[in-house]
Amino acid sequence: MSAKSVLYALALIIGSSYVTYTIVNSSPQKDTSKKKKNVADLIGNTPMVHIASLSKQTGCEIYAKLEMANPGGSAKDRVALSVIRHFENIGELVPGRGDVLFEGTSGSTGISFAMLCNALGYTAHICLPDDTSNEKLQLLESYGAEIEKVKPASIVDPNQYVNAARKGALQLKNDKTTASNGVFADQFENDNNWRAHYAATGPEIWEQMDHDIDYFVTGSGTGGTIAGCSRFFRTVSNKIKVVLADPQGSGMYNRVKYGVMYDGVEKEGTRRRHQVDTIIEGIGLNRVTHNFLQGEHCIDDAVRVTDEQAVRMARFLSSNDGLFVGSSSSINAVAAVKIAKTAKKGSKIVIIACDSGTRHLSKFWKHALEVDRNITLGEVIQ
Ligand code: PMP
Repeated sequence: MSAKSVLYALALIIGSSYVTYTIVNSSPQKDTSKKKKNVADLIGNTPMVHIASLSKQTGCEIYAKLEMANPGGSAKDRVALSVIRHFENIGELVPGRGDVLFEGTSGSTGISFAMLCNALGYTAHICLPDDTSNEKLQLLESYGAEIEKVKPASIVDPNQYVNAARKGALQLKNDKTTASNGVFADQFENDNNWRAHYAATGPEIWEQMDHDIDYFVTGSGTGGTIAGCSRFFRTVSNKIKVVLADPQGSGMYNRVKYGVMYDGVEKEGTRRRHQVDTIIEGIGLNRVTHNFLQGEHCIDDAVRVTDEQAVRMARFLSSNDGLFVGSSSSINAVAAVKIAKTAKKGSKIVIIACDSGTRHLSKFWKHALEVDRNITLGEVIQ
């Protein structure tokens, strides 16, 4: 056994002792069974694809982990399954008892929960801001999730959608007139989020790249993906540079680069802006989440990407590689190209492609469609 293999085996053992819940078939071992029990068994083991256009033009080898291949269409399936299994293990969710899982989300997590709750015997109750995009609303409605729309508000407002979900779960939990239980998924603060990526996404990438990665690039919404993957990578290699890709208006870039959340030093009396001014969905924040903190020490650098660059990149990837990606994947691809400019030629760069463009047709892709399909990479990055 090589030293590398011993390290890897050790990491898996440490990983599995960390993880006190079951992740069904999202383990790095290849699942060879021909028939799956339900959609939960389809989660994970997503493909890795070489992005030929970007690789050829940058001189680096750029790959995308296609998380849109999960049955619910995004990386959030892994988190949703991990959270549900945890609640099942501690007896808080029991199938068929009328239990309800509450989550506050305007994004893909709600869709993953709606899908899995149907498959596993629960009800999903999703609280979201009333300006959530139509595609996401329609998907939630199609799964038959309970939907509670609230006015967009700051996280400190008790009626903000995350707080509304917390309140709903507590009410049902304390309701003595019913046997049904309510649980609050709490993806921003729940450790089962980053641990799902530590236990599966990271190891899958490591295996798919034949233990040879120079850069890992992704954005941060809850921070679960970057924290879980980067913590795993640190257990198997000290050469992988973890780079945060951050949209305009988000404070995470400054946090990683300079240790402060805002442009420059926060002045006395200035109010924190909680709303991030970008058309990119799912990533970018002006607050530090528990999940982000779990991996912050493993993040080496950050790259800022503008909305225009992301929009142009989405069009470029669909025209040149047939890759139809969502806004956060596009941010990651722009960041990879920026990294490639100073990286050693031939460096292997892996990005996360969290979801596909179908979920972003009415907002992000409306802009991307206005971009000339023959746009050059130089024009994308300018
Ligand atoms: N991309 C999209 C489309 C997302 O919905 C999310 C999750 N909010 C992310 C990326 C970021 O993932 P994470 O929450 O793990 O930081």
